[in-house]
Amino acid sequence: MIRAMRPVIIAANWKMNTTPADAGELAREIARRTRVDGVTRVICPPFLCLAAVRDALAEADPDVAIGAQNVHHELAGAYTGEISAPMLDGLATWVILGHSERRRDAGETDELIGAKLARAVEAGLRPILCVGEQLADREAGRAIAVAEAQLGGCLTGLDPGRLGAAQLVIAYEPVWAIGTGRNARGSDAAAMAEAIRSTLSGLGWGETSRDVPILYGGSVTAANIGEFFAEPSIDGALVGGASLKPDEMAGIVGRAGLTAAARLAAIA
Ligand code: PEP
Repeated sequence: MIRAMRPVIIAANWKMNTTPADAGELAREIARRTRVDGVTRVICPPFLCLAAVRDALAEADPDVAIGAQNVHHELAGAYTGEISAPMLDGLATWVILGHSERRRDAGETDELIGAKLARAVEAGLRPILCVGEQLADREAGRAIAVAEAQLGGCLTGLDPGRLGAAQLVIAYEPVWAIGTGRNARGSDAAAMAEAIRSTLSGLGWGETSRDVPILYGGSVTAANIGEFFAEPSIDGALVGGASLKPDEMAGIVGRAGLTAAARLAAIA
């Protein structure tokens, strides 16, 4: 059977940066500088900036998708200050879930992240699920075991068919590489991607685990993205700090375009 090629994806996580007054202009500039065939681009601004980014991209480049950085695990109710998945209707089509900064600052557990995944999929959002180890885990040789446990905790009980139809994306984000300027080696990210796909297979995904896009995240820049795209098992990047810089995004998406073109040529 010939499998369809996996998409090449660059997702920008703006974290708690930008305001409604400046987010639209930044989105417009990034969109203008990253028009490259074959690359799925996603911008994930803060909730408050979603409408400004939507309006800017509708005019500048509707091909750029918009994502949220989180959703609540319930649909509605007495949850002061929270945002639920259905509230994103018309604002976002993607969502980042399980980011290590939320695991750290909001105490999110794998079980809670699994509930958020379910709500996101019910609302028609495409989830980017983040997993990744702490430095001590990597140094102790436990990196893969940690990611396997996170995947098991987040995905057990969820229907692989439903998540597959929602086009789940997984981001491998070693915690020690996020915002530190210290990126993982491409070969380690590739080994993790293989482990993630075999874990999915063990969780009931079978052969379709090969179709799940896996991104690397952790201090990605235009200068180091090539190391990750040199690995055929890596399908793109979740970019934090560098995603606020149009020059960096132009370089990262430009390099992603080379991989997209090479993949297309390989199946042509
Ligand atoms: C992230 O926020 O997911 C991330 C990887 O951040 P940075 O690129 O800044 O390390």
